[in-house]
Amino acid sequence: MTIIDGKKISEDILNEISLEVKQRTNKGYKTPHLAAILVGNDGPSQTYVNSKIKACEKVDFKSSLFSYDSNISEEKLIDEIELINNNDDIDGFIVQLPLPNSINQENILNSVNPNKDVDGFHPINYGKMTIGIDSFIPATPYGILELFKRCKISLDGKKCLVIGRSQIVGRPISILLSQSNEFCNATVTLAHSRTIDLDKLALDSDVIISAIGRPEFLKAEMVKEGAIIIDVGISRVKDDSSKKGYKIVGDVDFKNVSKKASYITPVPGGVGPMTIAMLLRNTLVACRKND
Ligand code: NAD
Repeated sequence: MTIIDGKKISEDILNEISLEVKQRTNKGYKTPHLAAILVGNDGPSQTYVNSKIKACEKVDFKSSLFSYDSNISEEKLIDEIELINNNDDIDGFIVQLPLPNSINQENILNSVNPNKDVDGFHPINYGKMTIGIDSFIPATPYGILELFKRCKISLDGKKCLVIGRSQIVGRPISILLSQSNEFCNATVTLAHSRTIDLDKLALDSDVIISAIGRPEFLKAEMVKEGAIIIDVGISRVKDDSSKKGYKIVGDVDFKNVSKKASYITPVPGGVGPMTIAMLLRNTLVACRKND
């Protein structure tokens, strides 16, 4: 069994990005600049945004954080986005989700300039990804693809079960893995909360990617010997032995499933760090296009 070290792989990617930034700077090219929009004061969202900003420092990107009160109107937020769309110094930006219920998420994501949409959530980028045209790929599925690539795990012809159909993880990774690309070409089943006989589907799968956010949902009895397991889930569970009072766990019962898996990603240290690395890579690509 091999534990896929997403932390190490993401550090390799950050080093590659950092090197390119140095080379760009030496040649007088622009420094990549990533901006983030944060609405309200949701704890996990603040943590995610802070780690993205911190990662920018590691690779010498410029970063900007635009924070707004949770009572900002949708119109005002769209005006602010328009300013960022027109700011030539900013190469790419993200709108940290979720947004407050008073704001229509679709309207906001549609107002992001597709050329700066480094999260890949604008319908133009999402559509391009779906039909296999070069575009910004959402960072988490992009990170999963990169893990397969760097670990030389080919899914060619393999039965792959994706659990969870969110627009940001489950659906895009199911689309990407079924495409005729290197390391992909999988036969994909997309399961969700209305799926019947999930246990049976899981047991029949060569690869399982779980993105549902239910702590240790995937048990060893649901996994066949030698399966490849990618755990996207991030849940906080009470842990009195930790200073914070909680610990982070994935969707997979790692202790027992790892005994049967051929490859498995841990939580933390698997898919999570890859997400940030791929966001930065998308930003570098956006910056190159402005050269
Ligand atoms: P979501 O929370 O929007 O939706 C959950 C999905 O799981 C839904 O499609 C639902 O149908 C499905 N689901 C829920 N219970 C199920 C069950 N019992 N059986 C089958 N399907 C079920 O999804 P999301 O935003 O993709 O987040 C999923 C998890 O991934 C969360 O824990 C989130 O924190 C984590 N996440 C991690 C990263 C990362 O970088 N590692 C990135 C994004 C999300």
